[in-house]
Amino acid sequence: MTSLERTLNCFSAEPIHILDKGISLSKYTLLDLSVENIEVKNMDMADPTVCQTYIDSILKQGDALVAYGGYLEQRGLYASNSHFSGEDKEIRNIHLGVDFWAPTGTKVLAPIKGKVHSFKNNNIKGDYGPTIVLVHSLGNTQFYTLYGHLSLESLDGLFVGKEFFMGEVLGTLGAPDVNINYAPHLHFQIIKDIQTYMGDYPGVCTTENKGYYASNCPNPYFLLKI
Ligand SMILES: [Zn+2]
Repeated sequence: MTSLERTLNCFSAEPIHILDKGISLSKYTLLDLSVENIEVKNMDMADPTVCQTYIDSILKQGDALVAYGGYLEQRGLYASNSHFSGEDKEIRNIHLGVDFWAPTGTKVLAPIKGKVHSFKNNNIKGDYGPTIVLVHSLGNTQFYTLYGHLSLESLDGLFVGKEFFMGEVLGTLGAPDVNINYAPHLHFQIIKDIQTYMGDYPGVCTTENKGYYASNCPNPYFLLKI
């Protein structure tokens, strides 16, 4: 365990809600969107309707309301999008956060007290859409959390330095026309060193860079315990 992982792990012994507290954590089910899942192999998961239909089937199967997962998952769904590859660039398909798939408008909560570091509508194809980054201090440790695919209203009234308490509503999930054509979900990522990024940070990386990003973006479960 790195020192940040240890700090995150020690923060709470109890699971932490990151979506509407009215949704019991017993109604969360794991979702596998990796290339190893043969069920999604021939599906066009970049199509939000196809993706939502698959998620709905997983929710029904698990008698659940939220599907989640994806940390360090290698995914096929970015292959068709030029945002994640270029002519000479290796494809970025290792997912660095955890996604929580739930209906448009679902409340997103700050899982830990923090201040707004930056926010932005990353509105190019394949990107996060409306995004908020919080900065947190735990003891001597500073780190950041990123919330992507939010609604436009989530950015209303925000300012750098605005404080959010643990459990306070940070925003709501955006619809596919705002979240840049994904089935509605929260992309949640923890970042140790955000460099000069503002309202943005890579959410996927190449296999070649997996080592660096995995250590800079620890597993969110250390904090959330879901
Ligand atoms: Zn994601």
